[in-house]
Amino acid sequence: MSEGAAYRAHIAIIGGATAGAEAADRLAAEGALCVVFEQNDRPYGKVEDGLPAWHEALREKEYGLIDSKLTREGVHFIPRTGIGREVSFDQLLNEWGFDLVILANGAWRDRALPVSGADAYINRGLVYQNPFIYWFNHHTEATYDGPSYPIHDGTAVVGGGLASIDVAKVLQLKTTCQKLTERGIEQDLFEMEVDGIPTTLQKHGLKWEDLGLKGCTLYYRRRIEDMPLAEAPPGATPEQIAKVESVRRRILEKAQRKYLFSVDQLWSPIGLLTHGDMLDGLRFARTKIGEDGHAVVVPGEIQNVEAPMVISSIGSIPMPIKGLPMDGEFIRLDDKEHGRVTTFDNVFGCGNVVTGKGNLVASRKHSRQVAEFLAELLGEDASPRADLESLMAHVREQQAAAEYDGNYHDWIGRVSAAAKSASPQ
Ligand SMILES: Cc1cc2nc3c(=O)[nH]c(=O)nc-3n(C[C@H](O)[C@H](O)[C@H](O)COP(=O)(O)OP(=O)(O)OC[C@H]3O[C@@H](n4cnc5c(N)ncnc54)[C@H](O)[C@@H]3O)c2cc1C
Repeated sequence: MSEGAAYRAHIAIIGGATAGAEAADRLAAEGALCVVFEQNDRPYGKVEDGLPAWHEALREKEYGLIDSKLTREGVHFIPRTGIGREVSFDQLLNEWGFDLVILANGAWRDRALPVSGADAYINRGLVYQNPFIYWFNHHTEATYDGPSYPIHDGTAVVGGGLASIDVAKVLQLKTTCQKLTERGIEQDLFEMEVDGIPTTLQKHGLKWEDLGLKGCTLYYRRRIEDMPLAEAPPGATPEQIAKVESVRRRILEKAQRKYLFSVDQLWSPIGLLTHGDMLDGLRFARTKIGEDGHAVVVPGEIQNVEAPMVISSIGSIPMPIKGLPMDGEFIRLDDKEHGRVTTFDNVFGCGNVVTGKGNLVASRKHSRQVAEFLAELLGEDASPRADLESLMAHVREQQAAAEYDGNYHDWIGRVSAAAKSASPQ
């Protein structure tokens, strides 16, 4: 469709990654003009910054999918433009005149470690998962200017989900590489991720015990069988639940066999161990599983865990955007299935920002569901409320402010080359 053609609607999409690109693709195919706002240079979201960098093949495949969707006819991409930063949410509806706004901005805020005063120790013994994985993926790039995280043996990880297992893997792989380097052995971290630590050490004629490492420990407040590593179907029977529990146990055991981290179940963090202005570890209380399946603290049983570093990996929640109603940690929704945001009839969310699930397929599927619902909601003879030329003037002006000339592939090549360097080791 050419720029002068009549579109069924003008749609703003916040976030250009898995969910945003999918929504743009689907709705442009339905005759809508989609403008995708991406806060970063590259629109790959958690595919680039959440999944640890060893997922090379998956990342390339996902990059290709996002690229093809953001370059389809009817989709305009605006990088380096955060909504709530360069452009306000209110401007989208009232100045640019979009008919619909779709939130596909994911979940980038770490849920706070539930121990009073903990955040005073951020980067002084306490690290959160999102910046930690971002650092792991990007710290060797020329443009990386974030905090650096020296890796310590004996780190305590608080978590239980798949992302926390990735954190434990990073720690184990990094400390093993460090020990091998001390012995004059240069070991590729990504190869070790594939082969596992014991097999890799065997190739060098070594055993884990030879390295003198304690390893990191993952602390989980519920039982291993409860870890959100596999999902039970809705209304699961007791047999199905037992099967899912055994899958969860097997997933964890496999990861432990390959990466040799420890797991301590049924402990909930309740206090901080500090020394001066540094966090030295955590105090945990024993828990048991209550009748409703939640972890309940058992009075009297406490352990103090001293650790050179604590990494909290207990879930990611959406960053608030001014103008959007929040319900505690989440965006307030009338209807999760279609992502309708309370108090608006033209603002919808899709992907991780709504599902809270750390899963590419779940994000894409939810986004498709929302896009299909919106295409129907618009109706066959919908027409945009704002003039196309004035909207496109805003688009071009903001693209120019971001130094983006509209050539997507050139842009990706340019910003990628600027950051280019060796793979993180
Ligand atoms: C450690 C870890 C490991 C994982 N491993 C796997 C795995 O093995 N397999 C799997 O399927 N999934 C995995 N996931 C989950 C998966 O990466 C995410 O669920 C999925 O990528 C989310 O896609 P999304 O498009 O919904 O959100 P995101 O990828 O988060 O995309 C949101 C986009 O919105 C942009 N944005 C945010 N705020 C704004 C704003 N205000 N204005 C403009 N743009 C904005 C962001 O920059 C980003 O590009 C993992 C996640 C983590 C953290």
